[in-house]
Amino acid sequence: MIQEYQLRVLPQQAAGMDSIKAYIAQEKGVDVRTLNHVRVLRRSIDARQRTIYVNLSVRVYINEQPTDDDCPKTVYPEVADARQVVVVGAGPGGLFAALRLIELGLRPIVIERGKNVHERKKDLALISKTQKVDGESNYCFGEGGAGAYSDGKLYTRSKKRGDTEKILHVFCQHGASTDILADAHPHIGTDRLPRVIENMRNTILKQGGEVHFQTKMTRFILEGDTVAGVEAIDLSTGEERRFTGPVILATGHSARDVYRYLDHAKIEIEPKGIAVGVRLEHPSALIDQIQYHNRLGRGRYLPAAEYSFVTQVNGRGVYSFCMCPGGFVIPAATGPHQIVVNGMSPANRGTQWSNSGMVVEIHPEDIAGDLLFMDKELHDDADSHLLDMMAFQEQLELSCWQQGNMRQTAPAQRMADFVNGKLSYDLPKSSYAPGLISSPLHFWLPKMISERLQMGFKKFGQMSRGFLTNEAVLIAVETRTSSPVRILRERDTLQHIRLQGLFPCGEGAGYAGGIVSAGVDGERCANACAAYLNR
Ligand SMILES: Cc1cc2nc3c(=O)[nH]c(=O)nc-3n(C[C@H](O)[C@H](O)[C@H](O)COP(=O)(O)OP(=O)(O)OC[C@H]3O[C@@H](n4cnc5c(N)ncnc54)[C@H](O)[C@@H]3O)c2cc1C
Repeated sequence: MIQEYQLRVLPQQAAGMDSIKAYIAQEKGVDVRTLNHVRVLRRSIDARQRTIYVNLSVRVYINEQPTDDDCPKTVYPEVADARQVVVVGAGPGGLFAALRLIELGLRPIVIERGKNVHERKKDLALISKTQKVDGESNYCFGEGGAGAYSDGKLYTRSKKRGDTEKILHVFCQHGASTDILADAHPHIGTDRLPRVIENMRNTILKQGGEVHFQTKMTRFILEGDTVAGVEAIDLSTGEERRFTGPVILATGHSARDVYRYLDHAKIEIEPKGIAVGVRLEHPSALIDQIQYHNRLGRGRYLPAAEYSFVTQVNGRGVYSFCMCPGGFVIPAATGPHQIVVNGMSPANRGTQWSNSGMVVEIHPEDIAGDLLFMDKELHDDADSHLLDMMAFQEQLELSCWQQGNMRQTAPAQRMADFVNGKLSYDLPKSSYAPGLISSPLHFWLPKMISERLQMGFKKFGQMSRGFLTNEAVLIAVETRTSSPVRILRERDTLQHIRLQGLFPCGEGAGYAGGIVSAGVDGERCANACAAYLNR
């Protein structure tokens, strides 16, 4: 017999399969020895009250064995002789596009400017050691894209656009834990993601696709208004290369050279709103105490606590973004003369710190006129203003690098000091490996950001007692929350609005914001590309 139950249990009862079985046996009056298998279908934590509960939705196999798999598998055919499609970028957008192309019987040729996911790790370690960032291999560039060394959070608000479950299944098929299928807030963790990404690459290669690392697209091969492939450079040899076929362009939000090329070549793009702010880091024990309403923190059975805040200040959203409980703040710049911060966490979310982006929504019109943070003359003389939002990001990142003594040491300020407009006399210990330097962020960040953050923090402090504290530190600057540009595409065909055979894809094109939504968009672009080839 198969039964489904909704259970509301204490954290220790949800902690392992034996304790879940024991609870079901007692609660439902069945012999525990008849419970052959229990599959957790949904797991969420209810921390609204002082007693914390875990809500479980379970399928119980009583005197029966499950006949189906926890995770449905996608069948990937052999495509060595099939028609080829060029996929630029091996982030989640590009990788899911490539796998979906194989599923549809097409042969993906993936080109990626960065290194494979393991070699890339060495370059990440060098950032803290040498204070220098490799412009082609960093936290945003390389196999797995910006999502590889992250928290690997897999929830998305954009479920309408495509099959998010399928994305989770493909991750499980390639080695992620099936827990991600049940958890309300699934995440993989930076220590486990590289293996999953490597397995995805191996599927592409095994089925007859190609993956070229350290190969950077420089321009499209254009035949009239049709994109017939890309020109690229092999960064290890300097050799020029050509790859032909329709193009799925999934180059992410940090490929500024790609945006410059598109602007210069008059390929239709438009500026897009972004969100800019800081990383806020608290001791994780403090966040646990606040969120779990317990002076003793999370105890043995609960995960590091999460939070999510959102408010409006003077007509713009101020919100927490990409929270990493039990994680690290990391240097996510993609070139010299920049400081950019972001966050990641290991699978066990076990560090002493919990961080989150705290950002203010910025619209293209906010950076015009008086509010402009850029050199006004330079701005007015520019041929095009399509890249203004990107220039705004660049200016902030440069200022931050200058404030940080022209190294990766990031300007920082204690949270209450920031709200009260006071320079921090000293700084708390932080997970940010390149180091922090005390800096009056309230003073030099553009007012449209600093004043809104100050107001926002006051509100968050009222919503959650203890959150606004000098034990927390703000680390500047978080600019890469999404793409500053949208590459314009048709709604139905997903093709560029003018150029045939070009499918702008994922976060960099302005159609995704996160690992899962980029994966979904990758699959959609692969479908659209197959439809284009089968016209
Ligand atoms: C540190 C960090 C942590 C994050 N944490 C999370 C998280 O926990 N959950 C979540 O949902 N999202 C997270 N994000 C955001 C998420 O990673 C992105 O939304 C997602 O990776 C976007 O996927 P994409 O494929 O569109 O682009 P990207 O992942 O940016 O991939 C683009 C790829 O294209 C390559 N490329 C660029 N230009 C070229 C070129 N000219 N030629 C060849 N290749 C090129 C790049 O090297 C890169 O590998 C995080 C981002 C960062 C930086």
